[in-house]
Amino acid sequence: MRVIVSECLRGVACRYDGGAKPVSAVQELCEKVDVVGVCPEVASGLPVPRPPAEQVDGRVILKDGSDVTEDFKRGADISLGRAKASGAPLAVLKAKSPSCGVGVIYDGSHTGKLTKGDGILAHLLQEEGICVVTEDIVKSCKPSVEHPVAIVLGTGLGHLGSLVKPARHIDYHDIDGFPDEARPMAGHSFQAAVGTIDDVPVVVYPGRIHLYQGYSAMEITSLVRHAHHLGCRDIIFACATGSVPGNASTGLGILTDQINLTGRNPLAEWDEIREVETPFVGMTDAYTPYLRTLARGVADDLGISVEEGVYAGTLGPTFETPAEIGMLRMLGVSYVGMSTVCEVIMAHALGMNVLGLTLAANESGDATVTHESVLAEAGRHADDFERLVRGVLHLL
Ligand code: SF4
Repeated sequence: MRVIVSECLRGVACRYDGGAKPVSAVQELCEKVDVVGVCPEVASGLPVPRPPAEQVDGRVILKDGSDVTEDFKRGADISLGRAKASGAPLAVLKAKSPSCGVGVIYDGSHTGKLTKGDGILAHLLQEEGICVVTEDIVKSCKPSVEHPVAIVLGTGLGHLGSLVKPARHIDYHDIDGFPDEARPMAGHSFQAAVGTIDDVPVVVYPGRIHLYQGYSAMEITSLVRHAHHLGCRDIIFACATGSVPGNASTGLGILTDQINLTGRNPLAEWDEIREVETPFVGMTDAYTPYLRTLARGVADDLGISVEEGVYAGTLGPTFETPAEIGMLRMLGVSYVGMSTVCEVIMAHALGMNVLGLTLAANESGDATVTHESVLAEAGRHADDFERLVRGVLHLL
């Protein structure tokens, strides 16, 4: 996988003051991918060192008052050319910089204050459809013993739990909010494993409960709150779905967004939401773009066939009618299932980084589908699913 990286994050002394801002999490990522190093300010031909620069009303002004907008644009164009030629789908750029900042940049007052906006290069890369993140995202997704990766597995995908080198197990019934009476369906297990996969700290939940079994949105999201309580910042949801004909094929998929058609929302049932000033939670990028892009890169590198698309979660337990499938197709839905949406809402509200993977075991509306046929199809894709998850864990 190729990744565009700000040179100063790798330790190259190219900043205005002649220094660097190396970040160990980024340096570790760089050891595992093909790096396309960029520094648009050096590419522009500006000297190092030089006075610091900040954006003011779309112009770039050095602290000594000189307008270097055209220099910055020229450097960004040169770096953009390198980035496009590389075909890299992901860029990790230095936060807040007038060239590389993403979402927020220094406000031009040279006082350390920030304002909304993108650096000149970051903006150009985003226009090219490249996923652009700062070092903060890489750091926040980095697993550790204190911050293991949570993995919640759905129907037929629980075998991934067998990869865990366990330090201990946790019975779901000991998890706060998990219903005492719940028993696992075929293909699920209710023993969470805390340990490692390929030396990456993980907590694997090899089964879940569903709204269609009569449980509440708060009950089905108890595993998410448990994972968060254990310190997990990344959470991978894997679920079996039906592919919507015309929008996706059967097989493995990466979820890009979701439509909650269950009529339930765990936050509306959550006592803690009543204690906060505002209960509203933005759902943009609920599926973390950085993790999605890593998953896509792993799949491409390993030759795993995978599609990407929007997931619609229904209450179930009925499958979709032909009219409903037609509606889902028009809505741009690729995958439809009876889990995950409430869990993603809870994880996103808790500030977790979310990766959604699916196995579309059948076409939506296929009247021949049974729980057993889903398990059989999951078995056929088990190897690729395992390689995909291990590949993502390796890059985190
Ligand atoms: Fe770092 Fe980007 Fe500034 Fe170069 S232009 S020093 S890569 S933040």
